[in-house]
Amino acid sequence: MLDLHGAMVAENSNDGEGDLLARVRAALPDAPIAVALDLHGNVTQKMIDNADVIVSFKTYPHVDMYETGAHAARLLFALVHGDAKPVLAWRQPPLLTHTLRSATAEGAMKRAMEAARAAEAEGMLAVSVLSGFSLADIEAPCISVVVVGDGDREQAEAVAERIARQIWSEREDFVYRSVPLAESVAQAAALAKDADKPVLLLDHGDNCMSGGTCDTMDMLEEALAHNLDGIVTGPLCDLQAVAVLMAAGVGSTVTITIGNKVESSAVKPRAPVAMIGVVRALTDGEYVISGPTYTGQRAHMGRAAVLDTGAVKLVVTEHTHEPWDLGVFESVGIDPRRARFLLLKSRMYCRPVFVPISAGLVECDSRGVTSSDYGLFAFRNVKRPVFPLDPHAEWKPTH
Ligand SMILES: [Zn+2]
Repeated sequence: MLDLHGAMVAENSNDGEGDLLARVRAALPDAPIAVALDLHGNVTQKMIDNADVIVSFKTYPHVDMYETGAHAARLLFALVHGDAKPVLAWRQPPLLTHTLRSATAEGAMKRAMEAARAAEAEGMLAVSVLSGFSLADIEAPCISVVVVGDGDREQAEAVAERIARQIWSEREDFVYRSVPLAESVAQAAALAKDADKPVLLLDHGDNCMSGGTCDTMDMLEEALAHNLDGIVTGPLCDLQAVAVLMAAGVGSTVTITIGNKVESSAVKPRAPVAMIGVVRALTDGEYVISGPTYTGQRAHMGRAAVLDTGAVKLVVTEHTHEPWDLGVFESVGIDPRRARFLLLKSRMYCRPVFVPISAGLVECDSRGVTSSDYGLFAFRNVKRPVFPLDPHAEWKPTH
């Protein structure tokens, strides 16, 4: 039983999970292998060939890690006890989904997930729809349907085919269209006018759980240029800045440059941003997650500092860290409910926690390595044609 993500790329492998599973199978040729995956896994033929059971999350934002593991384990036990004969079927249309269009509560992804659940209710052992992780730049970082049937391969193939066709016919709905950052910030300002709760600005161009540097400053600069105030933002990862704030001590007024320090191939270098503020808090950056994502786990942000410039309270940390819990702010003495604007470097993980305490949400596409603008990136390995890079891409189902 393996708990994997599914989109592993290493310097020496474009198919981390496929290579791992092939080695496990070679070492233990008679052992049944069950795998639990993230919904953003990139499925490959090697993974299919070297696993008996594959089950992925059915939620994004992900809140069903436990259920997915239990599902895969149930099927593994059934296989071991001779109560089931899992057979795998897999379809992968040439479709790069946008992560923001893989949320399972809306659109074509929701409908695909409904089809998956319906097929399970009709007798398939497991039906998974994996949106894939397109920014991995491997041969096919595309959406997949993986069906675990019970002994009847043809039936499993037919289910996989049917759901994949449905997805392909709705491919436009998996494409996210960004709007300029200034427009998004103006929209947030309008939302906040009569609001008595914070407005969320989600900086999905710099999301560390997708590989973002967690240190770009466009969002905050744009917000300040629009004269927003009452801003709370973080975590922003800046090792040097934390050291300076720690050395200064709580209560000191500090002049400092923050962010824009990590170089990346996709984004032009930008200068760190000069800020003047008061150090409000210094902590070890640890807290316990209250949930619902990873409930009860101890989280480590590296050492953390709060810089208060008047308009903005900035949580600066030593590690990149997804703002997926109120503890990110509460552990450093900030009540996020009292902010006017919450700027979060997050796509989805923040939503189960922060949407309920907010007046509304605006998605903001900054210039970071996890931007939704595919035009920023040089795809070198992706097999073409692929939708939407090639709008006229075709898919010929195998059955
Ligand atoms: Zn994921």
